[in-house]
Amino acid sequence: MSNLRVWIILAALACAAGCGGSGTQATVSANTATAPVTLDAQDQAPPPQQTGGFDGSRAYDFTAKLVSFGPRPSGSDAIKQTQNYIYSQLHADGCQIAEDSFNAQTPIGAVPMKNIIAKVPGTKKGIILLLTHYDTVRTVPNFVGAEDGGSSTGLMLELVSLLCREKPQLSIWMAFLDGEEAMVDWNTNNDHTYGSRELVARLELSGELESVKAVILEDMIGQKGLTMKKESSSTPWLVDLIWSTAAKLGYQNIFVSQSTSVSDDHDPFLEQKVPAVDLIDLDDYISEGYWHTPQDTMDKISAKNLAIVGHVTLASVDALEKKFSQ
Ligand SMILES: [Zn+2]
Repeated sequence: MSNLRVWIILAALACAAGCGGSGTQATVSANTATAPVTLDAQDQAPPPQQTGGFDGSRAYDFTAKLVSFGPRPSGSDAIKQTQNYIYSQLHADGCQIAEDSFNAQTPIGAVPMKNIIAKVPGTKKGIILLLTHYDTVRTVPNFVGAEDGGSSTGLMLELVSLLCREKPQLSIWMAFLDGEEAMVDWNTNNDHTYGSRELVARLELSGELESVKAVILEDMIGQKGLTMKKESSSTPWLVDLIWSTAAKLGYQNIFVSQSTSVSDDHDPFLEQKVPAVDLIDLDDYISEGYWHTPQDTMDKISAKNLAIVGHVTLASVDALEKKFSQ
């Protein structure tokens, strides 16, 4: 994801780390970055029955497992391990699984990528589509992406384990997307969102895109001190549905009324007039100095906040099922 302010701040950060400074940020080794951490009491997940059945500690453990593979840029050996892990979880949960392997044309040449989709068939026409990206940015050394790429994928794996047991009216698809991150530079040559653009193109070809009623993108949703702002390009009625769901559950302190603007995997859907929302807290992570740095590690993640976003997502899927099954 990207916005203009991000790049200004990132340029400053890059300079702090590498423009004649001591380079302390660059000294975080891959081993340190993937080391297990102990959660403080305030960051532990509540019992799942308090969060609609969503188990925040399982989502946290999934995230830690993903991080343990190390940096996971598109085309790397570590992302193959990640794909195998996602696939094994989906298989164990008894989901229908669809895979799309493709070669993305990028500024560094053709890069093999793979989207993996868990499908829960519904009894009526219509699809609710949940998205996460599981790749990590390749341009930052020792970047393990606990929050950026990890947390949303850990959350989605827990959603899969719950939703694949359901018999919904509308179909629920959960897509694990490759290639969200830029290979070189987000701002040139359309160098981003390869997986989501591929998915939109595939759905257009198959004629299924018009059946997608709503897209909920999860990205950077598990950090300590999380505040979810309303992403301004997202579809207003869908934002309202999610924020009012969060308010009913008592999470107004996390799902706040302010707005922000982020380019992300929801954009290719919006361009095709498919309702979509981006759930993301990019601003706080930038302010803390962790975004796209080797400090994006498990000690920044809260199982409690994963549980809250998981709870809101489950309840929002329910609300969407009601809205479109009339
Ligand atoms: Zn990123």
